[in-house]
Amino acid sequence: MISSKRKIQMIPMTRSAMLVAGCALLLAAMPVAAQTTTQSATQHGIATSHMDRSVNPGDDFFLYANGEWLRATELPADRARIGVFSKLDDISSKHTAAIIEEAAKSNPAAGTDARKIADLYNSYMDEKAIEAAGLTPIKAQLDAIAAIGNKHQLAHELGKTLRADVDALNNTNFHTATLFGLWVAPGFHDSGHYAAYLLQGGLVLPDREYYLATSEHMVKVRERYRAHVAAIFKLAGYDKPEERAKSVVELEHAIAEEHWTLSEDDDTLKADNTWKKAEFQQKAPGLDWAEYFRAAGLAHQKTFTVWQPSAFVGESALVESQPLESWKNWLAYHQIESASSVLPKAYADERFDFFGKTLSGTTQQRPRWQRGVNVVNGVLGDAVGRIYAERYFTPEAKQRAQEMVSNIIAAFRKRIDALDWMAPATKAEAQAKLNTLYVGIGYPETWRSYDLLEIKPDDLLGNLRRASLFVYHREVKRLGAPVDKKEWSMEPQTVNAVNLPLQNALSFPAAILQPPFFDADAPPAVNYGAIGAIIGHEISHTFDTEGSTFDSTGALRNWWTKADLDHFGAATKRLAEQYSSYHPFPDLAVNGEQTLAENIADVAGISAAYDGYRASLRGQPAPVQDGFDGDQQFFIAFGQNWASKGREAALRQQVLTDGHSPSQYRAATVRNIDAWYAAFSIKEGSKLYLAPTERVRIW
Ligand SMILES: [Zn+2]
Repeated sequence: MISSKRKIQMIPMTRSAMLVAGCALLLAAMPVAAQTTTQSATQHGIATSHMDRSVNPGDDFFLYANGEWLRATELPADRARIGVFSKLDDISSKHTAAIIEEAAKSNPAAGTDARKIADLYNSYMDEKAIEAAGLTPIKAQLDAIAAIGNKHQLAHELGKTLRADVDALNNTNFHTATLFGLWVAPGFHDSGHYAAYLLQGGLVLPDREYYLATSEHMVKVRERYRAHVAAIFKLAGYDKPEERAKSVVELEHAIAEEHWTLSEDDDTLKADNTWKKAEFQQKAPGLDWAEYFRAAGLAHQKTFTVWQPSAFVGESALVESQPLESWKNWLAYHQIESASSVLPKAYADERFDFFGKTLSGTTQQRPRWQRGVNVVNGVLGDAVGRIYAERYFTPEAKQRAQEMVSNIIAAFRKRIDALDWMAPATKAEAQAKLNTLYVGIGYPETWRSYDLLEIKPDDLLGNLRRASLFVYHREVKRLGAPVDKKEWSMEPQTVNAVNLPLQNALSFPAAILQPPFFDADAPPAVNYGAIGAIIGHEISHTFDTEGSTFDSTGALRNWWTKADLDHFGAATKRLAEQYSSYHPFPDLAVNGEQTLAENIADVAGISAAYDGYRASLRGQPAPVQDGFDGDQQFFIAFGQNWASKGREAALRQQVLTDGHSPSQYRAATVRNIDAWYAAFSIKEGSKLYLAPTERVRIW
């Protein structure tokens, strides 16, 4: 997804990461679903009724491909944005809901996965029990925080909150509200064994920019945030809620100043910092690290990879310099906030009011059953996914998708061989990476076990707390163990795709391999333009700025020559400039650096998919459909991948925090492809026209 953000689309926070963390923040911001249809089930091929043919494709390809859809589509009140991805999310949610309901009705035997699915879902739906319990389920934690009397005890409580809730390179989630986050993944220099990565944390708002940006919009968001924190304290019965809120927001502001930006986070070579546990106290004084690691259950772990060293220095110093009372307020607020979506209605409403309405612009919460489905997916994803894959992904679909992957990999091979700027040794390693690449289609070869996770029918918060600890203990336990290179980081029922650089692997879940992205009955031009470009996108991450830092075994090693990198840097710089010139709002431009890796992947993906498509024709002409020839169908299908409509607040949040460009600019990347000009007779003078020398060609 993304230089490090290696998924094909943004997910404000992955379901599993966020739910398992019990972090409610993300529920409201989760992937959205469309109520509009993209096309009827009987129609195979591009959706001509979505197009606006009055638009010159050379002026605005996004509108040309999607204009009528945009006009006809209304954003439901409970959605921050909708599009093809969210339409498929809706379908996947319905299928998943059916699986869960069946489990709930069938009275499954105790201890089975089906029983856990049923009990978890029922505990979420039992609003009466949630109201009756009030704050009781988190009272013990709040009491422990209130009893903190010194910085040593503070370190202990901070250590207790550490969770495996971040992911730097696979699902790329750099956000955790706890002080730091743990990611267990193959080691940078020993990709055969699992290592411990520590990432910065401590902010509830999505990114440091929310605390530091000076735009009028952000100043307003911060005012609302402070009022929200005060409201939470007030609801929970704390005295001086305003004062406490002020201290929390000030502390988070100070933490934000220490944080790395998302672009900095993406620079994997900068993240390669091995600290021995014993060195933390001296390298980052302030926090009582020995106590922190002891409380986190990591006393035996000898080394860590510290992703953002200066942030660790800064945050640790803040533990010493900031008043104990501020830290206690911060811990208490974070504790309640992380649970608020599953606390009584007053908390959930207050939470939605800020995170749903103010941050994402949605005006209505999604139906409770749908949120319940998300919770079950987050906690028991593989238990649900196993049934989902059996039911909704045929062996024929799997085989067809595998053929497309083979053709697109073959296209990459040819493109790499044909590059005149790349050194022979670099080319050889690139080919070696293609040889060892593991591509997972539909579902994983092995499934996670939930045997050690206890789920009760009447204890929602306890279930979520145990689930987040279950994941944490599972991850900590495998530190040092051999790596499973075929492991997935996404469930089959997730509408997305992902590149796993340390495993040199890709996953294409069953839920993305369905119409309109993939349709066994559609012409090849359409499948290659739609899912083919997505497959190519993920493969290209293997070779992008970040891919160039991982070799064919998954080890962190720059396998490019300096001349190769210089050429790549110059070519991609022009792409960054191209994207930085886009202004979705008059006061906000796309950040060409932050989105560079994704934009490279889009250009490379469509290029390789186009080659794969041409090769699949074996010299025969493509069938004409609705008056469009094969090449035109290919590009229109690509443009229709990005049909999407969103609220201003959500779009602003994406521009600030996501590695992916807004949809309309992703569709516009066709301007870098020669075949697009020929397909639509695009001439100089059209708004998207680029002279052949200005088109960015990377692979
Ligand atoms: Zn990507």
